[in-house]
Amino acid sequence: MVAGPGLLFVVSGPSGAGKDTLVEALRERLPRLRYSVSATTRQPRENEREGEHYFFLSRAEFERRMRDGELLERREYNGNLYGTPRGYVVQSLAEGYDVIMKPEVNGALAVKAAYPDAVLIFLVPDRFTHLRERLLARRTETNEEIARRLEIAHQEMKFIRSFDYIVVNEQGNPEQAVRDLQAILQAERFRIHRYPDDSIRRVESS
Ligand code: 5GP
Repeated sequence: MVAGPGLLFVVSGPSGAGKDTLVEALRERLPRLRYSVSATTRQPRENEREGEHYFFLSRAEFERRMRDGELLERREYNGNLYGTPRGYVVQSLAEGYDVIMKPEVNGALAVKAAYPDAVLIFLVPDRFTHLRERLLARRTETNEEIARRLEIAHQEMKFIRSFDYIVVNEQGNPEQAVRDLQAILQAERFRIHRYPDDSIRRVESS
């Protein structure tokens, strides 16, 4: 069987569902998986590094990249712009690497519109109240910001049916969610439509 282009995995869901932690754990397990670093106009948090967590851009530079078609999708979220740089994703997929990204829900749907073949995974906490607890625990947002993020989260939950998979991030058991994500990544590889037609024909006639 011939390996085709890489697969695009989009992990989305409300802020506080655990996207960052789970995707990081998944990347440790799958070193060949490429991570698409987003661009943002938000200020860096204390532990965040340029080019690793985000490309931190001024609004003017972000808008220039937008105008020049350098972003695959972009969204305003809570007063800041976030977007996926196009070049890295397109090149990695063409080279046969799988790519993972974690935009908010509207961004995920925009990626699906641009790449119908993308696999959309909706990450949810086992209880909605856990979102608030996690946002409080990470101490990176003010109470006002947390309230806004929870309001957005309520809106985001409405789009769940447009996704391909749901993964529940159970409180206290993130390992299970990481295993579930890994299972999805593995299973997607074996879907019939991912194989080039001539290799299916070879199997048929063997
Ligand atoms: P945070 O400020 O917590 O890092 O991110 C806020 C929200 O923006 C999260 O839901 C995160 O998934 C989303 N986000 C991060 N990068 C991108 C991106 O490239 N595009 C879109 N549409 N959303 C993003």
